[in-house]
Amino acid sequence: MATPPVTAERAPTSGSGSRTAALTRKPNPRVIGNLPLLQIKDLDVHFITGRGTARVVDKANLTIQHNEIVGIAGESGSGKTTLVEAILQIIRFPNRVTHGQVLFSHDGKEQVDLMTIGDRRMRQLRGRHIAYVPQGSMNSLNPVAKIGDQIVDGMLDHGVSEREAKAKVPSLLARVGLDDRVSKLYPHELSGGMKQRVIIAIAIAMEPALIVADEPTTALDVNVQRLILETLLNLRDELNVAIMIVSHDLPVHAQLVERIGIMYAGQIVETGDIRSTVKESLHPYTNGLMRAIPAIGGSRERLEGIGGATPSPLAWPEGCRFHNRCPRVMDICKGVMPILAEVAPGTREIADGTTAEVIPDRLVACHLYPESTPSTASAAERGASMAGIAQGGSR
Ligand code: SF4
Repeated sequence: MATPPVTAERAPTSGSGSRTAALTRKPNPRVIGNLPLLQIKDLDVHFITGRGTARVVDKANLTIQHNEIVGIAGESGSGKTTLVEAILQIIRFPNRVTHGQVLFSHDGKEQVDLMTIGDRRMRQLRGRHIAYVPQGSMNSLNPVAKIGDQIVDGMLDHGVSEREAKAKVPSLLARVGLDDRVSKLYPHELSGGMKQRVIIAIAIAMEPALIVADEPTTALDVNVQRLILETLLNLRDELNVAIMIVSHDLPVHAQLVERIGIMYAGQIVETGDIRSTVKESLHPYTNGLMRAIPAIGGSRERLEGIGGATPSPLAWPEGCRFHNRCPRVMDICKGVMPILAEVAPGTREIADGTTAEVIPDRLVACHLYPESTPSTASAAERGASMAGIAQGGSR
């Protein structure tokens, strides 16, 4: 029998698909308590290499609320993917999580530490309450199995009956903007964007509380990227699911996420709502990332990259790990590591030396803000930090 023609990709028909939707979250009926969905606390991940121990993730802290869309950004090698793998407990021996907690609560009432539960319990949570869309996952579909069968298989693993699973396939495909005929096709008959939608359909089959997507739009053209991002945004609204999206691509974050965490050298160095973080970055590294993005339609200007290279996780520098690349480095930065702390709201000097109105819930790890200098630093060091702020930093 001839293969039916593959339908063109289309945006999902339901949901608003607009950034406005990201900012107007509805109450989540399955949340019955006040606990956040995910709390990462002081998480360390070490890789054992032939040249020593690499501290790939170091004291990472992040909270994700129910229904929230949070982005993780940073250069390659900053630890983004390792952070995700640690949350999902898929770090392979001899690499391991050496310290920290990942507290998860799908209903806001009961909380489990994913770092202490056994493999069996973790397997139950993965797929049912936490779905993972790994990097390059569109290439992980079984080339000799029909799409519908692959979607059904995922549900059978979690105890859904075959009849129920098969009945659910058309609605899952519709949710990601695909026609039911796709269920009869093999992966090689689909475009990259369609395969990525199938992966998302598999991820949402059990209606998880959290989808973790690692570079979900890499290798897709801009139009398909936009459709995938709209699909994710609609799913959040329809299924009350939170999304953690990892991408080095800041424009992707700007289109989708509500809050962003910036990673540098294994640490989260800034978190805040996406608009303030992009426009009024507190950390000089975040500011450098933003200045490296070309403005569409703006005047022709030479883009400024961030000078220098990321240090090796085998030997992070003392103090602030960004100090050898930072245009605002001060003496204290070379000896004292800043801590991620909330900056007191109000009119403050920010990373680029201008002043801005800092809103609540913006966290940064940088000595430009006294909240970030640990109380264990000596009085002289704390004084140096304050003097640096007054002078705008000095090399
Ligand atoms: Fe720059 Fe110092 Fe802030 Fe690090 S702590 S980002 S070196 S100003």
